Amino acid sequence: MSCPVGIYLAIPFCKAKCSFCNFASDAFGPDRMGGYVDRLCREIREARSEADRIGAVLHADADSVYFGGGTPSLLSGEQFQQIFTTLRNEFNLSATAEITVECAPGQLSEATLEELQRQGMNRISLGVQTFVDREARAVGRLHTGAECEAEISRLQQAGINRVGMDLIAGLPFQTEASWRESVDRAVSSGVGHVSIYMLEVDEESRLGREALAGGRRYGAAELPADDLVADWYGIGCEVLNHAGARQYEISNFAREGEASRHNVKYWRRLPYVGFGLDAHSMLAGREAAVRFQNPDDLDAYMAAAEEGPFRMAHRGNRETEWVGKQAAFEESLFLGLRLVEGVRLGELREAFGDAMLASIMPSIADACDAGLLVVEDDRIRLTADGRLVSNEVFSRLLIADAA
Ligand code: SF4
Repeated sequence: MSCPVGIYLAIPFCKAKCSFCNFASDAFGPDRMGGYVDRLCREIREARSEADRIGAVLHADADSVYFGGGTPSLLSGEQFQQIFTTLRNEFNLSATAEITVECAPGQLSEATLEELQRQGMNRISLGVQTFVDREARAVGRLHTGAECEAEISRLQQAGINRVGMDLIAGLPFQTEASWRESVDRAVSSGVGHVSIYMLEVDEESRLGREALAGGRRYGAAELPADDLVADWYGIGCEVLNHAGARQYEISNFAREGEASRHNVKYWRRLPYVGFGLDAHSMLAGREAAVRFQNPDDLDAYMAAAEEGPFRMAHRGNRETEWVGKQAAFEESLFLGLRLVEGVRLGELREAFGDAMLASIMPSIADACDAGLLVVEDDRIRLTADGRLVSNEVFSRLLIADAA
């Protein structure tokens, strides 16, 4: 993993909490942003010495930066400037680095946009989720479909060439017709990248709690059935592929050259370091790799300033995992299979040896017989049916591996 690192920065502030959201984000209030940015910058400054101390490799060269959330666009231009200055002091940010900021429609001020462009931001990921106003209102989104379209035009006119958006299949009140409307409006907006997520109703979200306990406030009774949502995902794949936004990962579609370089690092198991609330990292280390995760509670993250996540990881009281060869093999397989191009068997063999690969070939053959996987040109990849039930395919492989 001696290649440039990808940098993820978690900005957990939102204007309001969406009913389906189970991320470590909330309407914490703008008064906490300044202290958070200071804490984040301190974590960035301390990262290299902490990595050295535990024997993890944190490369100085970085070729991607991703501000995720939350709603990072709520930060002021000055706060972004502070973060970029700190990043550039600690990392060699390549001149061609992909720099992405997640934004919510209508929540990016002109001043912040200008500062981001000065800092080299070249990609925006917009949380649209739906263009249908009733669906957006039901889950607590603060924008209309028309406002999303106006925001996309504004960004394109401002010279942001790479704009992407997220859509969710399975929202309360959604129908096949309304889903088609959202996908069609995504296509006609001219964005180069679309992510489609099938809503997973989680009991940590307000919608999930209502689905379990009953009630009508968040529209849990209006959630579409799972098999319908799976069909709509298929419709989304078809429409986007047909429109030239080719699927390159289970949830991601891009026009030529528009795939997210940063996110591809996750699926290819390339090194990345995360800063901020609930941020995850994976770096090379004394074993195959080390993974660690910051606290997901804002107060705990702020209080951890005295010891830093790497240090906590070293003491073993954080979610830290030294990844051995077998686990790295499984990760390479399961993460790589998320990509439409799949995984090159020769690369697995070279990295992990014949025996490890041979151990999993019978279950790969079974999944091929079931029409879920295909092996061709020395690559293994999921079929379209396999992508629909990817978790089932992965657990088949794991069960076989453990047997
Ligand atoms: S804006 Fe995004 S991160 Fe914030 S609550 Fe909504 S879905 Fe969650």
